[in-house]
Amino acid sequence: NYRCRSAFKLREIDDQYRLLSPGLSVIDCGAAPGAWSQVAVQRVNSAGERPDVPRGSVIGIDLLYIAPLEGAHFLCNQDITHPATHAELQRLLPQAYADVILSDMAPNASGLRELDHERLVSMCLSLLELADRVLRPGGSLVCKYWDGALAHKLRDGLARVFRDVKTVKPKASRKDSSELYFLARTFRRT
Ligand code: SAM
Repeated sequence: NYRCRSAFKLREIDDQYRLLSPGLSVIDCGAAPGAWSQVAVQRVNSAGERPDVPRGSVIGIDLLYIAPLEGAHFLCNQDITHPATHAELQRLLPQAYADVILSDMAPNASGLRELDHERLVSMCLSLLELADRVLRPGGSLVCKYWDGALAHKLRDGLARVFRDVKTVKPKASRKDSSELYFLARTFRRT
């Protein structure tokens, strides 16, 4: 009963790399309709379903409306690339910090592969500014990108501030799509 089958991609990534654990605080960028947030809520225990472990928090943001979900706080009709959104997130986060930034964001596809690739890379680069502002040292970031000429630029940007950056392609992601994810771990503020 996930809102979207994309949930299985995050589950797969997290089963392998264990980014989400009870008590952590998560930002989910491009969260509509909310399937990744559902996975995050379960794994960080932000709805408090498991009283025996720490309770985390999940904040989801999207340009679109996201139907309410217990354990998540949604910022609808907001653009994650705007500095004003970063400031609002900082206000909402427990202790002003996040442990994990997730992004499954995608621009509306124009159909021009190269253009879509470039737009998504520049959206992902703005996540570095967000990380700089709110990510806890040692924190991690997962972001979707479409492969192409500028992917190295995004990887380099991540590698400047994260100790470990790798590309992952979940099995649940269609083989014929150019969709990939960067998994960046151990943030160190510059
Ligand atoms: N992970 C989501 C889930 O599991 O339900 C699916 C995300 S969907 C593939 C991509 C989302 O990114 C869209 O809902 C889109 O509105 C959002 N998006 C695109 N650009 C954005 C931006 N600048 N700020 C916030 N959200 C954005």
